[in-house]
Amino acid sequence: MGKSNKLNKSKSQDVVEISKFKDKDIKTSGNTVLDLVSKKDLLERIEDLSTAVESLDEQIFEMRSLLQSGKGLGNILNLDQLLHTLMAIIRERYGLINSSVLFVDNEQNLEKKYFRMFAHQGIPQQYMAEGIEESINLFKFPVNDGLLWQIIKNGETFSVQDLKRRPRFTQAWQEWNLSVLFSDVWCPLIIKGEVRGMITLGPKKNGKQIQENEFTFINDLLAIAVTNIDSVMKYENNKIILKNSKILYDANQNVSDIKNKKNLCMESLIAIVKGLNAQAGILMLYEKETDKLVMHSSWNHDSKYSYTPNNNYNNEAILKKHTIRINDKENIEQINENIIYGLMITPLFRAEELVGVINLFNKIIYDENKTQEDVGQINADPRGRFSKDDKNLVIGLGDQVVANLHKLQLYKEAITDRLTGLYNSAYYQKEVERLVSEAIEKQSSLCLAVLDIDNFKNFNDEYGHKAGDLVLKEVGILLKEITPPEFNHLVFRYGGEEFCLIMPNTSIKLACDFLEVLRKRIEKHNFIFTDKQLKVTISGGIASLSEANKTASGVFLLADKALYESKENGRNKITATRES
Ligand code: GH3
Ligand code: MG
Ligand code: MG
Repeated sequence: MGKSNKLNKSKSQDVVEISKFKDKDIKTSGNTVLDLVSKKDLLERIEDLSTAVESLDEQIFEMRSLLQSGKGLGNILNLDQLLHTLMAIIRERYGLINSSVLFVDNEQNLEKKYFRMFAHQGIPQQYMAEGIEESINLFKFPVNDGLLWQIIKNGETFSVQDLKRRPRFTQAWQEWNLSVLFSDVWCPLIIKGEVRGMITLGPKKNGKQIQENEFTFINDLLAIAVTNIDSVMKYENNKIILKNSKILYDANQNVSDIKNKKNLCMESLIAIVKGLNAQAGILMLYEKETDKLVMHSSWNHDSKYSYTPNNNYNNEAILKKHTIRINDKENIEQINENIIYGLMITPLFRAEELVGVINLFNKIIYDENKTQEDVGQINADPRGRFSKDDKNLVIGLGDQVVANLHKLQLYKEAITDRLTGLYNSAYYQKEVERLVSEAIEKQSSLCLAVLDIDNFKNFNDEYGHKAGDLVLKEVGILLKEITPPEFNHLVFRYGGEEFCLIMPNTSIKLACDFLEVLRKRIEKHNFIFTDKQLKVTISGGIASLSEANKTASGVFLLADKALYESKENGRNKITATRES
């Protein structure tokens, strides 16, 4: 409208006035304008001039729009926002109905490279794919070496429909359902000589097609936009790397209790599932004795979201010792009714030994507005895809699980007596102080028992050291059996053939009952060594924490004194200290 007004205005200008501007061209040999050209010619020239002015005006307008658009795009640091703004600029400029941005995923294995829908405007949300309604967000088509790809690689904007609105690439259109994009024109996004994506533009609202001469603005704008897209992608990627480093750091810092395997596994798995925004996860540990993977911890793996671990994938990951990352539900073997859109399987190894496997199901698209607690509670997002960065993160987090499980093992070894599997005396010193303080604080009872095998020197002398070792092992087992687990009694091998029991929340009467049962059971027990049935007895002393005896060492001395009494009184006896 504005332009045609300008044209009319130019036409109505005084002829001679305007010609002054051009008199260099018109005057030839000092003659006046009117001498040389007819009025008609002059009008024609003015017409040309107006067109030139109009074209210049348009160019200035284009330049200004470009400059402003470019400036605007440069301020956006979010890829989604950047692409929506870019599409909006083009749509507004040409009065277009729709547009979309597809990106090439070059992170997947090379045989399956796709253009994937990333952002779209004005396109119906659903489309039909092989007779099934599918979300347009999931639309993708493969990259192949056909004519269409060759033209895309050229990098120039091109029209995909002829003047009669028939697709120019009929086969591709049919095969890959490309009509769902409702596009007239495709604009390849080339970054550093590589096709990274495509912007598709739909018809104009006035029903006309985008003309070839309008491609210049689009091309110029895209030339600016791709550098922005590249920087924003890098920026977002750096943000992810930074976030992942923090997740790795925090995961290690947040392990609250390395001494408890169940907690350790659960806490690690939660950190992994949340760190990776997975919908559900499973941690399985390898059991050497049974040669099986046993599910240890699971997150969001209730009836609603249960995902059966796929043995084929787990075995493959273990065999090849690498993380399996598969996206797209059609590439994943579906085992139960909960669809898996994305899957990551990481085997855990320490040196060459298998420790376990982590299974992660369905990536949830990260939303900065969501709290960590929300993540993992929501339904699967079909668009969610585990990225290369996710793979690196899960490998890093998996290494931490392995390291922590190893620490746990070392810790267990440090507090355990090798022969009997009971706690050792070093651990006794640590635990007794803690439990005594706790009992004093809570004003609860605590008993201590000291046990010693009778005449064990003679036993060793008579049957040999190996027979003696067998006795120590079996006494350990019997000791563990005498009290129900809920009593939380702790059993230690204190010295050579001496044992110790810390019995929190236990009265001296109950402690005597337990130990009397033990004494009798050992007395009756047949220790079978090389076909011989051997017998031993034990003596014991018990003391309890009291007003007069408030220290661990004090109670121990009393219990030891009671043990001495048992020995003095003929052995195979349990003696409790009388309160003094
Ligand atoms: P008492 O009834 O007074 O306790 O007599 P005892 O012979 O049991 O006591 P003594 O302290 O004289 O001997 C303890 C013996 O325990 C000495 C040692 O041969 C044996 N012993 C200590 N540690 C082990 C072990 O790890 N394996 C075996 N087989 N014997 C051990
Ligand atoms: Mg002894
Ligand atoms: Mg002894």
